[in-house]
Amino acid sequence: MAERPMLSVEGLTACYGAVTALNGVSMSVPRGGICAVLGANGAGKTTLLRTLSGLKRAESGRVLLDGADITRLPAERHVRHGLAHVPEGGGVIAELTVEENLRLGGLWRAGRRDRARSAAEVLELFPPLRERVSRPAATLSGGERQMLALGRALMARPRVLLLDEPSLGLAPLVTRQIMRMLLDLRAERDLTVVLVEQNARSALSVSDHGLVLNQGEVAMAEDAGRLLADDRMRHAYLGF
Ligand code: ATP
Repeated sequence: MAERPMLSVEGLTACYGAVTALNGVSMSVPRGGICAVLGANGAGKTTLLRTLSGLKRAESGRVLLDGADITRLPAERHVRHGLAHVPEGGGVIAELTVEENLRLGGLWRAGRRDRARSAAEVLELFPPLRERVSRPAATLSGGERQMLALGRALMARPRVLLLDEPSLGLAPLVTRQIMRMLLDLRAERDLTVVLVEQNARSALSVSDHGLVLNQGEVAMAEDAGRLLADDRMRHAYLGF
């Protein structure tokens, strides 16, 4: 029997007033899978992540996390179920230190000792953050801020990580570092990742699967290697 997907999305529809931003989107990501979500501006990528994490209400359809229906749960309950969302820009608080930002990510965890252990593990994963733990996030480089955003999400020990444009504003070398970190995280923590990116090439280079959205609908769902190799698809949907 096939293993149950870690994340399963069935016919998801979401609207802003009269605008249908997602229209019957279905996808499935296995445990430990990395799925790139690609598409032009306004295709619905951010809306998909916001609907998956409960920040946006689904008009219809279902989101299943390891088989449990989380579609109608409030956003904070999604975190408890093991789903963490890193929004575009990371959403770290510039005035707070690295350590304080991390602590925010673990706020809902029960014990102080548990939180401290999570923070130590996260700092182990990101040495540049360890060296800057008492500095305000405002003093970090773009790449370090993205690491902090990732680290803060990991404080909740998620099973599924939703990442919105982690490469935005980063130099190519730093983008490659961040993408490689996703592979390490998958290997070390068995994380399942949904990766929204404008930078299709670098996203597909670390993904197993690629989903292309077009005007709120799935235009293509393919093996990442095949998407990268197919000139016609690349020209039509990915712009490179
Ligand atoms: P981008 O790459 O530019 O972030 P995207 O693929 O993430 O684009 P969304 O931001 O999800 O796309 O937008 C999908 C559609 O929903 C677009 O038509 C957009 O104009 C519309 N939309 C998004 N947010 C809102 C909002 N708050 N109010 C009204 N319409 C919105």
